[in-house]
Amino acid sequence: MEFNFFTFIFLFAILTSVLALLYLNFRQDKAIDNSFDEVPDGFSETIKLEDHQKAGKYTKAKLLLNHFEIIFSTIVLLVWTLGGAMNWIDGYWSQRVIDPVLMGTFFILSIMLIASFIDLPFSIYRNFVLEQKFGFNRMTVKTFIGDFFIDIAQGIIFMVPLSYVILYLMNLEAIKDFWWIYVWIVFSLFILTMSWIYPTFIATWKNKFTPLENSALKNRITSLLDRTGFKSDGIFVMDGSKRSSHGNAYFTGIGKNKRIVFFDTLLKGMEDKEIEAILAHELGHFHYKHSRQRMINLFVSSFLSLALLGYLINQVWFYNGLGISQPSSHTALILFSLALPVFSFFITPIGNLVSRKHEFQADAFAASHTDAKDLISSLIKLYKENSSSLSPDKYYSAFHDSHPSAVLRIEKLL
Ligand SMILES: [Zn+2]
Repeated sequence: MEFNFFTFIFLFAILTSVLALLYLNFRQDKAIDNSFDEVPDGFSETIKLEDHQKAGKYTKAKLLLNHFEIIFSTIVLLVWTLGGAMNWIDGYWSQRVIDPVLMGTFFILSIMLIASFIDLPFSIYRNFVLEQKFGFNRMTVKTFIGDFFIDIAQGIIFMVPLSYVILYLMNLEAIKDFWWIYVWIVFSLFILTMSWIYPTFIATWKNKFTPLENSALKNRITSLLDRTGFKSDGIFVMDGSKRSSHGNAYFTGIGKNKRIVFFDTLLKGMEDKEIEAILAHELGHFHYKHSRQRMINLFVSSFLSLALLGYLINQVWFYNGLGISQPSSHTALILFSLALPVFSFFITPIGNLVSRKHEFQADAFAASHTDAKDLISSLIKLYKENSSSLSPDKYYSAFHDSHPSAVLRIEKLL
């Protein structure tokens, strides 16, 4: 096998992205240090210096772990591709299974399983060392092992049949140059089905969901739902405390099968009017159809990506340049999914920019249907519970953060 000019471009993109990520981490680390001794303006009455410093230490510990993750995942990517690991697995299955679709499915399954074991040490460290040290971990070893196998089971149940169908279409003579359009249709239907069954089926594998029971709160909520015209399967409480003391709320599902979910950990420290304000924020996402927009973006970007793959699959330089000697549909698929993030890395800030805009819109919606003061106090509690930094670096935040910092959100609400 010979490496080629594309190898060089690939390595250059990896190097640039790693340096950019490390540089952003370095900036963030410095921003935390600079604000360590003083609570940022406007928060001195609501956030104690002690809590602010804890958030600073927590953010720094996460950054340190992230340094290792960046370096480690880069090495893993290089071992998979240029190091020849994928090529070896491909050779292994090609000697044992003749049918190309079945062989490709085994190949993809092997890579998926190996990848989930490779991630394991980091996941163990994050939960049982880092989160534990700061008092956020609620996960037992039993839950952790259970989660690990549930993830693998979900991978096998959903991803294996999907991979099989995709590879079948890719190998179908009758649709030769247009396989990628068919694959796109299958993929889009898959995403829609998963979004439909996620709240009532998939999410329940790991968590319990109970309808929100609190009569005083219920009255507030019913009236808010009437005011905003939201119809759904309901408002649910999730047992997030099984894994972590961090709190959250989210909006999930599509069509009639949509839900608003509160973590039990979020509800614990909040007053009813604050919960109402958070709910109004989630309804803001619904009102502005943010999840539909995200879905459409996903369909458009997957269409473009598959069109690109439709071209690359016939280019020998694409395989050889990334360490694969024998072109095939399954190696093209996996190579593409590994290499694409290296290049699309440079456009990730756009997604986060849109997401932050959506957060501001949802906040404004909440402020117009409930008291903005309640949203502010709930945000302060939420950021405090999650030990989020109040003073992130501007560039780091622009690149990584899907949610604006508490300071910016509150400023807009005042
Ligand atoms: Zn939001």
